[in-house]
Amino acid sequence: MRAQLMDRPVQAAQRRKAVDSGALALKDEWQMRHRLARRLLALTDTIVSESTIVVEPAAQCAMSVVDGVMFRWRGSDLVVVRRCAHCGTGRFESAPITQRSDLRYALTVWQPYHRECEPTDPPDDVSW
Ligand SMILES: [Zn+2]
Repeated sequence: MRAQLMDRPVQAAQRRKAVDSGALALKDEWQMRHRLARRLLALTDTIVSESTIVVEPAAQCAMSVVDGVMFRWRGSDLVVVRRCAHCGTGRFESAPITQRSDLRYALTVWQPYHRECEPTDPPDDVSW
């Protein structure tokens, strides 16, 4: 009985701590949404509704799809996520996108491949 009474303040403190961090996480989530939306507006001229941005608080990661292109923002890096150019599966992250030319490169020049999907040089012509 005595032990239970002594436990109560500790449990209450743990509960308070959990509530505080929950509120903090929610504030962080909206900050991440807001910052990603601003970055995407600057890069793509597209207004992204913050409520459509998906946030993974545990991974400190926010994601949004603009015109079919998936953007992932983590820490201070914004990257484009694309599928394998050969088989259309998997998820590959581009180099960090800091300006429009990075985005253009990631969408037009960069071709991500699984190791086994990489194009090989055509076989030597042995028909002679
Ligand atoms: Zn592949």
